[in-house]
Amino acid sequence: MTAKLTGGCTCGAVRYETEAEFEFSFNCHCRKCQRATGAGHASAFALPADAVRITGDIREYKGSSDAGAATYGGFCPTCGSPLTSRTERFPERLYFHAATLDDPSVFQARFVLFGEEAQPWDLPAPENNEENQP
Ligand SMILES: [Zn+2]
Ligand SMILES: [Zn+2]
Repeated sequence: MTAKLTGGCTCGAVRYETEAEFEFSFNCHCRKCQRATGAGHASAFALPADAVRITGDIREYKGSSDAGAATYGGFCPTCGSPLTSRTERFPERLYFHAATLDDPSVFQARFVLFGEEAQPWDLPAPENNEENQP
């Protein structure tokens, strides 16, 4: 069976694949995502954690959400590419950074999170905000 979605880090030490569809997808402009990605926002999608096969080691940085839940930002310890994130609130779900996909063009954000924290040089695109959809 051919995997629907495949991806990995910059150096290739970590690879993932799944037959699952995106559960949802979003652009998050919160300050944590800005720092974690080094960019104005994170583009990410959610997959059922048990539907993803991962090869290679992902190291995780433990943080916490504004609500106090433990969060884990996963990255490749060799090249440092941000790969995943997860929260203890939804252990059945794993988030992946969109640009880790082998074909990132299949990604489309369904909604925007923390648009009010967006930087003036990276404002949320209105077409990415579901509230602005017809
Ligand atoms: Zn790597
Ligand atoms: Zn965020």
